[in-house]
Amino acid sequence: MRGAAPRQIREINRSLLLNLIWKEQQLSRSDLSRRTGLSRSTVSVIVDELLGDELVRESHVARSRGGRPPIVLQFSDERFFVVGIDMGATHVTAVRCDLRGRLLSRFSSRHDVQTDPEGALALLVHAVHEVIDQASDEERWVGVGLAVPCPIDLEDPDGLNPRILPRWVGHRPGQVLEETFGVPVSIDNDANMGALAERWWGAARNVDDFVYVKLGTGVGAGLYLNGHLYRGAGGLAGEIGHTSIDPNGPICRCGLTGCLEAMIGTGHLLRQIREADGPHAPSSVTGLVTAARRGEPSATAVIHEAGRYVGLAVANLFNLVNPSRVVLGGSLADAGELLVAPLRATLRERALHTTLAEGDVVTSRIGPDDVAIGAATHVLEAALADTSRLTRASPWSAAASLTSE
Ligand SMILES: [Zn+2]
Repeated sequence: MRGAAPRQIREINRSLLLNLIWKEQQLSRSDLSRRTGLSRSTVSVIVDELLGDELVRESHVARSRGGRPPIVLQFSDERFFVVGIDMGATHVTAVRCDLRGRLLSRFSSRHDVQTDPEGALALLVHAVHEVIDQASDEERWVGVGLAVPCPIDLEDPDGLNPRILPRWVGHRPGQVLEETFGVPVSIDNDANMGALAERWWGAARNVDDFVYVKLGTGVGAGLYLNGHLYRGAGGLAGEIGHTSIDPNGPICRCGLTGCLEAMIGTGHLLRQIREADGPHAPSSVTGLVTAARRGEPSATAVIHEAGRYVGLAVANLFNLVNPSRVVLGGSLADAGELLVAPLRATLRERALHTTLAEGDVVTSRIGPDDVAIGAATHVLEAALADTSRLTRASPWSAAASLTSE
């Protein structure tokens, strides 16, 4: 590596080894040397450092090849946690996960986030307390990932989009969390976080080209192309909710006409079912999905029509970026085949055969917490890319005692 200072080279090697140990969990020092091409002595020096920092531990339990079992290195999973928050338009969900994306604790509450930023900020802080208070004192807190229901400005992710969330002008949720808890906060769009969760732990593991479509109050897509999240030049990539599906359709909250979100967003679906069923109509998407599962005709029709509209948007996606999979998330995705069958029918009519043959439409394997788990994964991804974040992480009790609720 020409031009890199010795210190940088050591950082790169340290990150390389730690990532391998995290991924494989059963490697000896000589395995590490063989896999990376680094000398035994370089590996030894770095591993000693990692042991000293308690990032890894030694274990004698190894596959037996006869003779003395080699000492293998394992990542100290149990010493770390990450927090992910899904701040939706109408809810806040927080999760605490280990470094394998496993859920350790969870809190969720409904709130009108769009119109009440002060209340939402207080709820964010409360939600984080709820999930971290169950951690043991020694566990180290790597950071918070915050998923927000709007496209983000890559230059200033904490300044939320004024067109989608006008009441939030002047409010900075990332700054509030960072000042309250003293840990780093990373912010991204909710559909991007959902895509990340599905790629790391869910329905798109090892899939390099897929699209995650979040079907909730808002509708958005996370584009995972060539093995990376694709954000576009200004962070707006994937705003599928505001592509026009019907030029004569209803006016969307973005001001345009006939957007996908205006046709299938939660608000529109609930208005439709109320028009059909009157005062006894379901008042949430979960209720709507349950009614459709029971075979109630108007609920089934509303979801069927939504499936057709999502199909139109997904057909366009297929022709545009040729993903090998589409993963549907968000509350409407709970409808499963009731939604996916009409969607596939539309795809068969619309998408070019060549792209459809490779295509595959599935619902989230992680379920309703996928965006929050993706937000936590965002922190993990950053920490594996820059392992000094793990070294710097302090026991959560120290961080959280900066302030009390
Ligand atoms: Zn719109």
